[in-house]
Amino acid sequence: MMRAYTVPPTDFIREIIDDDLKDGKNDGRVATRFPPEPNGYIHIGHAKSICLNFGIAAQYGGTCNLRFDDTDPSGESLEYVESIIDNINWLGFDWKGRQYFASDYFERLYQFAVQLIEAGKAYVCSLSADETREYRGTFTEPGTKSPYRDRTIDENLDLFARMRAGEFPDGAHVLRAKIDMASPNIVMRDPVLYRIKRGPHYRTGDTWVIYPMYDFAHCLSDALEGITHSICTLEFENNRPLYDWILDQLLESERPRQIEFARLNISYTVLSKRVLIELVEKGHVKGWDDPRMPTVAGMRRRGYPPEAIREFCAQIGIAKNDNLIDVALLEHCVREELNEKAPRAVAVLRPLRVIIDNYPDGQVEEFECPYHPQNPTMGTRMLPFSRILCIERDDFNEDPPGKYKRLAPGREVRLRNAYVIKYESMVKDEKTGEVVEVHCTYDPETRNAPPADGHKVKGVIHWLSAKHSVPAEVRLYDRLFQVPNPAGEDEAFTRYLNPESLEALTSCCVESNLKDAVPGDRYQFERLGYFCVDSRDSAPGRPVFNRVVALRDTWEKIAGQGKK
Ligand code: ATP
Ligand code: MG
Repeated sequence: MMRAYTVPPTDFIREIIDDDLKDGKNDGRVATRFPPEPNGYIHIGHAKSICLNFGIAAQYGGTCNLRFDDTDPSGESLEYVESIIDNINWLGFDWKGRQYFASDYFERLYQFAVQLIEAGKAYVCSLSADETREYRGTFTEPGTKSPYRDRTIDENLDLFARMRAGEFPDGAHVLRAKIDMASPNIVMRDPVLYRIKRGPHYRTGDTWVIYPMYDFAHCLSDALEGITHSICTLEFENNRPLYDWILDQLLESERPRQIEFARLNISYTVLSKRVLIELVEKGHVKGWDDPRMPTVAGMRRRGYPPEAIREFCAQIGIAKNDNLIDVALLEHCVREELNEKAPRAVAVLRPLRVIIDNYPDGQVEEFECPYHPQNPTMGTRMLPFSRILCIERDDFNEDPPGKYKRLAPGREVRLRNAYVIKYESMVKDEKTGEVVEVHCTYDPETRNAPPADGHKVKGVIHWLSAKHSVPAEVRLYDRLFQVPNPAGEDEAFTRYLNPESLEALTSCCVESNLKDAVPGDRYQFERLGYFCVDSRDSAPGRPVFNRVVALRDTWEKIAGQGKK
């Protein structure tokens, strides 16, 4: 029983690469990179980019670098670097030691900037931030040249060196490219290349007080690493002419080629780092790896298998236009993976005591149960049966509606893999009126057999022997946001948070085989869904489970490709 994963279909990026190879570009090399800024944990959107960049490298026998794009001292940290490394590894990708930091290029980037100044292609500008904005013009009006635009090369070299030496306060000057203030593309109107910004950098400390802007650092980092295809998201489309301009001024050799694709958006989810940071910092979730977070760390802790995330990325493919992917597709991929791989187990989330009056006190029987109904190679385990059981509270109904097939006054039900039991009486809490105990009798002839008279028992429920079961906590998750497109709503995204996104059930019981369940292990709890042992809060003898996904699949219905 081998699962067939989707092979990413060809797409416009792979077609570009095919053409470049046909044209003999880059000596037949294909070199990509994944360039995260270490200012947050990576999320499912990054996973799409990771699958694309590493996938292309693997497909073409090329390389994919992991490059930390760490050119902004604020908000970057080693914790983020480590989390990114750990999570890309967990997703199943290996950069084979090709790990780089843009901050390692600071000196070379500085020298490139000097080279631009010497060529008369960059100048130090002393307009304030507000003035710079005014001078830039609008979509309909051209910009105005800065009064500092005609500084001499020597003056520029001197000022730039003194910017580096820390002689000026933050914001006093910037280095700008001298391109075209009348360009219809605003990005090309003398863009800022360097700014003065103090604040220790997590790797270079106080060595630098000037930092290169993304547009300057990124293309040159690509070039320094010999990247052939620099894949980024659509919002950089307008920056491509600048990417090319900078490299054309400074490089003799063939330059990397920037290609943009549509970023991933998922319904009921926000994938903006700014928002994710706020969710964490304001305590709306419990950290970056909160199982409700769309981060790789969150999905991993929740119990999403890496294979499912990769399959999802393969299925959504690569497009040139922004779209919103239904989160149900991601959940579908998770469910498909777990349906095949997760061993079955029994848990009772909201227990109700059932006493089998005619079952001998102290007697224990064991029932052999398969770990997977379709896969005998996964083996079996024993489930003990005794006089006092627990069943799900909602598998008993005092006043059942018409179609109810489970336990109720005057009715019988089959205990899965065991006996048929019949209702006798119930005990209620005197104060609350809540049913606290149900008494039944069992028919010893029905052990995995129909009743002697052959009549059909309609309902089947799961159960655990009370004294053999293990207490557990189970956390049920719902979507973090209540609206399909929270990112598209106004700024106050917290208004759309789902107050019921977490329900912690603290008095569950699970079968004794799960007593020492290992963090990260995943199970299908029969009739309930898929669950994963929590990696933070679970303890031997007191397991904590996260619900990964429910059993029911809404995707097949939506997509109209139901198999049943
Ligand atoms: P944000 O805009 O949320 O702050 P970012 O794009 O700035 O995220 P980076 O760390 O710079 O985050 O991203 C690293 C790489 O991942 C970039 O190449 C970026 O294009 C890509 N990426 C980020 N978000 C998505 C997404 N939603 N879908 C696909 N690729 C993405
Ligand atoms: Mg970015």
